[in-house]
Amino acid sequence: MKFKLLTIAFLITHLSVSAKEFVDYVNTLMGTNSTYEFSYGNTYPAVARPWAMNFWSPQTGPNRSGWMYAYGDTTIRGFRQTHQPSPWINDYATFSLMPVSGDLKVSHKDRRVSFKHENEVATPYLYKVKMDNKVDAQITSTDRGAVFKVAYPHKDKKYLIVDAYDGGSMLELAESNKKVTGYVKNNNGGVPDNFANYLTMEFNYPVVNSGVMINGELFPGKRKGEHNQIAMYLEFDIPEGKDLIVKVASSFISPEQAELNLQREIGDRSFDMVMEESKKIWNENLGRIVVEDPNEENKRVFYSCLYRTLLFPRSFYEFNAQDKPVYYSPYDGKIYDGYMFTDNGFWDTFRAVHPFFTIFYPELTEKIVQSLVDVYEQSGFFPEWMSPGHRGCMIGNNSVSLIADAWIKGITNFDQEKALEGMIKTTNSRGRETSVGRHGFEEYNKLGYVPYPNFSEATAKTLEYAYNDWCISRFAEGQGNKEVQADYQKKSMNYKNLFDPAYGFMRAKNAKGEWIEPFDPVEWGGPFTEGSSWHYTWSVFHDPLGLAKLMGGPEKMADKLDSMFVVAPDYKVGTYGFVIHEIAEMVALNMGQYAHGNQPVQHAIYLYNYTDRPWKAQYHLRDVMTKLYNSSPKGYCGDEDNGQTSAWYVFSAMGFYPVCPGQPEYVIGSPLFQKVTMKLPNGKEFVVKADKNSPENVYIQKAKLNNKNFENNFITHDQILNGGVLEFVMGKNPNMKRGLKKENRPYSFTKE
Ligand code: CA
Repeated sequence: MKFKLLTIAFLITHLSVSAKEFVDYVNTLMGTNSTYEFSYGNTYPAVARPWAMNFWSPQTGPNRSGWMYAYGDTTIRGFRQTHQPSPWINDYATFSLMPVSGDLKVSHKDRRVSFKHENEVATPYLYKVKMDNKVDAQITSTDRGAVFKVAYPHKDKKYLIVDAYDGGSMLELAESNKKVTGYVKNNNGGVPDNFANYLTMEFNYPVVNSGVMINGELFPGKRKGEHNQIAMYLEFDIPEGKDLIVKVASSFISPEQAELNLQREIGDRSFDMVMEESKKIWNENLGRIVVEDPNEENKRVFYSCLYRTLLFPRSFYEFNAQDKPVYYSPYDGKIYDGYMFTDNGFWDTFRAVHPFFTIFYPELTEKIVQSLVDVYEQSGFFPEWMSPGHRGCMIGNNSVSLIADAWIKGITNFDQEKALEGMIKTTNSRGRETSVGRHGFEEYNKLGYVPYPNFSEATAKTLEYAYNDWCISRFAEGQGNKEVQADYQKKSMNYKNLFDPAYGFMRAKNAKGEWIEPFDPVEWGGPFTEGSSWHYTWSVFHDPLGLAKLMGGPEKMADKLDSMFVVAPDYKVGTYGFVIHEIAEMVALNMGQYAHGNQPVQHAIYLYNYTDRPWKAQYHLRDVMTKLYNSSPKGYCGDEDNGQTSAWYVFSAMGFYPVCPGQPEYVIGSPLFQKVTMKLPNGKEFVVKADKNSPENVYIQKAKLNNKNFENNFITHDQILNGGVLEFVMGKNPNMKRGLKKENRPYSFTKE
C-alpha cells in the first residue's frame, strides 16, 4: 500500500514536470508583428476564454489605434479590456488599467513604460510582463471579468490608472475606497444611443489618494469624473512584499449586472484559482484534438491556430440573478432573454470557422444560428459583420451559409420558419449599412448579375450571392417550400453570367450586358473585393464542376489552377489607388497569383480534387502549411481574421477542409501529422493516421476508412461523427491513379 502510494506520487510529480499540456503549445503572440502596411496576422495576445464576452490584452499602441499590440513596439501603455475583432474594425467599449510607479503620469502618452519581450509570458490564460521600471503585471481572465496582480518596487509611489477613453465615460471611487465603478461608451457606430459598458473593480488595499483627468486636465482629490474623455488615478499604500490585486468585470446590461458578473465569476477566488480554472478550460478545449507527431513546431502552429479558432464570435450574453441567459441587444437597445453573439465577419468565418463548430461544438452552432434569427427579428436583417451591431463592412449574405450548414448537419433546434422568412427578406431588400440585405438585389434578380460600375464590387457580390442562393435553395427544400427552392436554385447558377470564356475568368458586366473593358485578371478592386479576378474566379463553392465546364472541363480547370501558381505575382492597384496590404502580402508569398493572405482564394487549392489531379492539392496544401505558417509573431501571411486563416490550418493539418459549407462533407488534402484524434461531442473518436508521413512524403498513396479501401476525395460529416479511423499511407511521389473516378469527386451541383 505504502509502495503504491509512493509510485502514484512519483508518477504525478513526474508527469507534472515532463508532460507538456495542450495549452503550452499556444503562442498568443503568433501574428502580432503587424503594421498598417503589412500584416503578419494583425492579431493581439488575447488573454481570454473561448468565445468570452471580454478579452484582455496589453496595449502598446496609442488609445484608439487599431494596432493595440504590435510586436515591434517597445513600450506598454496599459492592459485593456478589449472587444476588437480586427484593427480595421477597431475597438468598442474598451478601457484600460495601467500600474504607474514613482512619478504620477496619467495620459497614455506619458505613462508608457519600456519592456522587453524576454520579460514577457503570453498564454491564453495568463499575460505577464516585468516592465523595465521593475513593475510586474499579470492578468488572467474569466468570460466577463479579469484579475490583475501587480508587484511594484517598494520604495516608490504606487499608482493605478484607470483609462476610460473618450466617447463618454464615468468613473467613481466608492466610499469604501476599495471599489471603482463607472461606464464607457466608446464605439465606432452601429449601436443604439443607450449603449454602454458598465464596469466595476475591487482592490485588496484601500485607495489612499485619487484624482481625475478630464480631457487632459488633472483634478487632484476628485473621486468622480464624468465627461467625454476621462481617466482616474488611484494611489495605494501596499506593504513590502505584497501585491495589488484588482478584480474587475463588466456588463452591457447594467451596473448591477456588472456586479453580479464580478461576484459570480471571480468573487473571493484568488488570482491563481482563476488562472488555473482558465488553464483547465483551455486544455479541455484544445485537447479535443490530440496531435501525435515528432514535429514540435507544427504542433505549436496547430494549437496556436486552434486557440484563435475558438475565440470568436464573442458571447454577448450574461447570466442574470436567476442564472438565465440575458443580453442587451446592440440592434434595438432592449434587454432580451437568450443568447447573443458578436464580433464576427461572416465573409471570413463562414468558410471554415463555423463549419468547425458544427463538428466540435454543435450546441454553440445552435445558439449562434438562433441568434441570427433573433437579430433578423430585432433589426430586419441577418447580420453579416457585427461589432457589436451591424457594421458596413464586406459583402455577401454569408449568414445564410451558417444557417444552411447547421441545418443540413442536423443542428435544427432554431426557428426554421423565421429563418427562411429572413433569408427571403434579406436577399430582396437593402439595409442602412451596405453589408446587410442585398446590395444590387433588384438588378441581380432582373439581370442575373450585379452590374458594374452601378455597384461597387459587383462581380464579387454576384458570385457570393449565387452561392448564398444555393444555400437558401437547400434550406427551402428542407422546409418543403418547392417554390423558393426552385427560384433560388435557378439564381444559384448566376455565377455563369459573369464568366467570360474568351479570357477564362470572371469579369464585370455593365447593366446593358457588355463586358467592362479593359480587363486584366491581375487588377484588384473595382468589381472585386480585396482581390482580383485571379482570386474570385474560384468563388463557386457549390458548383466547381459547373465552373470547370465553363473553363472547358475539369482538366482545363486543373491547368488554370496550375497557372495560378506559376504566373508572376503582378498586380494593378485598380480602384484602390495604392498597394493595399493584401497586395503586398501576395507579392511577398511568391506563389504566383495565389494570395493565401486573404480569404477569397483560401479554398481554391482544394478544387484540384474535382479534377484529374487531386495530388496537386496535396502538394500545394503541404507547401502552404509549411511555408506560410509558423508560430512566431510573423506567423501568418496576412490578416488572421477572427479564426478563419487559423481554421484553414486546423482543418488542413487534420487532412480535410469544408470547401462548400451547406454540403455536409469535407474535401481531402494532405494530412500534416502522423496521428490526429478528434474527440467528438457525441463521445466517439475519429482518428486520422498518416503512415510514412514526412516533409517529403506529402502525397497520398492509398487510404482506408475503417479498414476498407477509401478512394474518395472527400469525407462526409456523418463519417466523421460516426467515429472511426481514416488511414493514409503517404509517399514522396504522387499516386496519379487514386481518386480519379467521377464518384470520387466531392459535391458539385452540376453532375457530369
Ligand atoms: Ca482578410
